[in-house]
Amino acid sequence: MSSVLHSSFDLRPPRFEQVGQPQWASWHWQHQNRLRTIDDFRDVLELTAQQRQAFEASTDRFRVALTPHYAALMDPDDPGCPIRLQAMPNPGELTDHPFERTDPLAEEEHMPVPGLTHRYPDRALLYVSHHCPVYCRHCTRKRKVSNPTTAASKAQIQRSIDYIADTPQIRDVIISGGDPLTLSDERLDDILGKLRRIEHLDVIRLGTRNPVTLPQRITAELAEVLKRHRPIYINTHFNHPAELCEEAATALRRLVDAGCVLGNQMVLLRGVNDDADTVMKLNRRLLRHGCRPYYILQCDMARGITHFRTPLKTGLEIMDHLRGRIGGVGVPDFVVDLPGGGGKVELLPEYIIDRRPSEHGDVVTFRNFQGEQFEFVDVDGS
Ligand SMILES: *Cc1c(COP(=O)(O)O)cnc(C)c1O
Ligand code: SF4
Repeated sequence: MSSVLHSSFDLRPPRFEQVGQPQWASWHWQHQNRLRTIDDFRDVLELTAQQRQAFEASTDRFRVALTPHYAALMDPDDPGCPIRLQAMPNPGELTDHPFERTDPLAEEEHMPVPGLTHRYPDRALLYVSHHCPVYCRHCTRKRKVSNPTTAASKAQIQRSIDYIADTPQIRDVIISGGDPLTLSDERLDDILGKLRRIEHLDVIRLGTRNPVTLPQRITAELAEVLKRHRPIYINTHFNHPAELCEEAATALRRLVDAGCVLGNQMVLLRGVNDDADTVMKLNRRLLRHGCRPYYILQCDMARGITHFRTPLKTGLEIMDHLRGRIGGVGVPDFVVDLPGGGGKVELLPEYIIDRRPSEHGDVVTFRNFQGEQFEFVDVDGS
């Protein structure tokens, strides 16, 4: 793998040929020039007839929006391009399956106050915005993301913060959305400041895909805000090595320099990253830029994303490949978020092949990452 990264600016499609570097680097410009209608994709992409049809049919279900930055990372000629699959509607989105759910993780059921999910005793998920620079086709929160009628008001966020302040068993708050970086620096500063003042919080996290979809948003000013409240744990969402371009690397560098602790939550997606080589390449590149692979998430049972799902065994095969071939810092946990609000459980490949009693305790036969077998004498707990 080359350490020289590609740049979205250099890859910008003919539609943006006249755009200069300063404009491209401005997140305001990126935001204002998002691609939304089918006409916006002229001079950007060759859509197949099927993709064109899906585009037209999907708009009232889940809006389309892409930053020019993210659009530039797509291969204009490849209908199966992993970036395109994540951002452009696919016919699969329009097919409903009986097992799919609108709110697969029952996030709305575990809300003590609107806009806050409190499922685990020690953690709370705080939704501060329902907008994102790019609407990922695999989003599990399609029910509210991109829907302006569900946006969290200032008063609602304040009520959530009050609930956290009144609930000492919460030690860890995850600011989520939508994408929380859709808020202004001032609003974020205010929210982070209020959370920081809550004595019983150990951890403040931000879940944001902006380093991928709008890395220009990570400005020096935003970095100052984050630094003021450090350490902020940031979990981002890279799904493919092609997303970690020069602009994204600059954003990650700024976050690291601001004292943020970076993790990545990859969603396992068919045709995007469902093979060990792609994940290995992504994880190496993340580590190089100070971002630790945190989770590989099994794609859940949300409506309209079944075409992205892979069998559980695919995730297990990827985990089996990673362990032993990349250092432990590059091996995330593979988790399934259980439908109905069961929470996350981790799945691991089976390493124990046999167990048989002996005079000194059970003899356990393990296999290692290369398939070689080793015997280990277990102790009897009594
Ligand atoms: C995923 C999730 C969390 C955070 O879980 P971690 O495993 O600690 O990253 C917290 N609350 C809810 C409702 C979640 O879905
Ligand atoms: S950035 Fe996150 S919340 Fe927004 S559309 Fe993508 S997956 Fe959904």
